Amino acid sequence: MSVVRRLGAHLPALALGAVFVALLVSERRRPLRARSAPEPPRLAANLATGAAAALTVALAEEPVVQRLAREVERRRWGLLPRLGLPAPAATALGLALMDYTLFLWHILLHRSDTLWRWHRYHHADPDLDTGTALRFHPMELLWSVPWRAGQVLLIGTSPALLKLWGQLTLAEVMFQHSNLRLPPPLERALSRVIVTPALHGLHHANREALQRSNLSSGLTVWDRLHGSYRPAEAPQHVTIGLPVDAG
Ligand SMILES: [Zn+2]
Repeated sequence: MSVVRRLGAHLPALALGAVFVALLVSERRRPLRARSAPEPPRLAANLATGAAAALTVALAEEPVVQRLAREVERRRWGLLPRLGLPAPAATALGLALMDYTLFLWHILLHRSDTLWRWHRYHHADPDLDTGTALRFHPMELLWSVPWRAGQVLLIGTSPALLKLWGQLTLAEVMFQHSNLRLPPPLERALSRVIVTPALHGLHHANREALQRSNLSSGLTVWDRLHGSYRPAEAPQHVTIGLPVDAG
């Protein structure tokens, strides 16, 4: 394999790494919220958690879900192959359905006591920035394996679609957790379509009602349809953390 092809195979991982570093630099230049805790120890802890999370996904999720996606593609299981759509339309619909079912999973993470026990670790970060995007408890990721398998099986997600969705979602998750203040016109335009840092900041506010809003990990349309969309008005006044008013 030539060097160029070998580099090409690693391009998505390199691009995701570049997005992470670009967000880390940008959020320092244009912060959205003032920090409440020193950043270096938090970033170190979140990077360590991210390494444990990546290991969990590599050992527990990928072998199960990727194998299932190969089987789904070979046997033409699930919704997408039945629709007979042209490839670009099938890809777009598949990405939207994977995003919608991830939104449903996020609702469950907040509504089920068992799942909240692990998802609360993600919300317990006293600040919200790019590093928080890596802060997922390995137990939450283990619980998500059967859900992910169900998504792939019902939607009919091929390995290529699964990979594309995973990469786009990770980039968007890093962006929405960042502490980056966008120029108001860009904030308004983007929030019509995707979750911005200001919108997701409300989901990480330390108030029960706010944490039940803006649950999407990608498109804002799901929150709008479910009545959980809350526009970002004054995000700099939001206090990040676990709910202080939970029953
Ligand atoms: Zn959450």
